Parts: sequence; structure tokens; C-alpha cells
Amino acid sequence: MTVDKYIRDIQDFPKEGILFKDITPLLIDPSARKECLDILVSTLRDKGINKVIGVESRGFFFGTLLAQELNAGFVPVRKPNKLPYDTIAASYALEYGTDTLEIHTDAIQKGDRVLIHDDVLATGGTAKAVCELVEQLGGIIVQCNFIMELTFLNGREKLAQKDIFAAIKY
Ligand code: 5GP
Repeated sequence: MTVDKYIRDIQDFPKEGILFKDITPLLIDPSARKECLDILVSTLRDKGINKVIGVESRGFFFGTLLAQELNAGFVPVRKPNKLPYDTIAASYALEYGTDTLEIHTDAIQKGDRVLIHDDVLATGGTAKAVCELVEQLGGIIVQCNFIMELTFLNGREKLAQKDIFAAIKY
């Protein structure tokens, strides 16, 4: 596995004390990107997934590639006031304050089999909010899928009962 060699550590981004995992080297290299996509999709064949959610914004890159690979629809989940049609929203706690994510009300139909993809699972707040949006619209979450899991932040605990897959664990 060479994918991890294409993840770059950036110290003190976006603020002091944070070690940010940068996926842009992985996006630039076609063969590493393909290897990453193959790993992300490896557990997903024959699961009947018909919608893939990409979480703004770094979840969009591999989210669309996964949707193409699985012959599924792609659905963006976005920060407030970015989506033009009717939306529902879910909020979650940050270290200081809260954040909100939105989805179009017609993006998921009852019974849809949904893959949620984002680049990083950290504390799990983001993914949990996305799960709430999907379930509110009647979707079935098949897997929460990430390039990286920062295991020391225990994000898994917030996603109890969900199938969680991460290509790389730190
Ligand atoms: P959580 O809600 O699990 O704490 O944070 C996950 C969200 O924050 C994801 O949408 C992810 O893009 C972003 N994130 C948190 N830490 C990192 C990081 O080190 N690198 C990248 N690329 N994204 C991060």
C-alpha cells in the first residue's frame, strides 16, 4: 500500500496545535489516486448502494469517483446556504460552537442504500450529522467510508452500529 505516502502532514493548520492531513498529493498522482479508489471500493461491491454522499468539501473528490465506480447517484452534503433547492439541516458541536450541514430534500428516497464518504474521520461529529440527515430522509446507511481515520479521537464511538471503513488508520 503506497497511498499513505501521498498524505502530507501540515503542522499548525488551520490553526496552531493541529497536525493537518493533506490529501492534495494523493489527488495529483493518478496511480496513487486509483489505488486509493480501489481500496475504498473494495468492500462495497454487491452491496446494492445506489447513492453516494460526499461531504463538503474534501469528500467530493473521492465521493464522485466512488459514485462512478458503483454506478450510483452522487449527493453533495454542504455547509449552510450553498444548496439551491429545499434542504434539511443537522447541527453538531465543535470544540468552540456548532456547525451545520445541509442536504437537498429530494436527494435521498426512502429505502435508498447510501454510502457516506469523507476524507477524514476525526471526532465523528461531521459523519454523525450526515447519518442523521440520511436517516431523516429514510435512507439506509450501508457504510461510512473514509480515506483516513484518526483513531485517537474515537470518532467511531459516535457512529455506533454503523459499518465504518477507513483505508488508513493513524
Ligand atoms: P470530525 O467531525 O470527525 O471531527 O472531523 C471530520 C471533518 O473535518 C472532515 O470533514 C474532514 O474533512 C475534516 N478534517 C478534520 N481533520 C482533518 C485533517 O487532519 N485533514 C483533513 N484533510 N481533513 C480534516
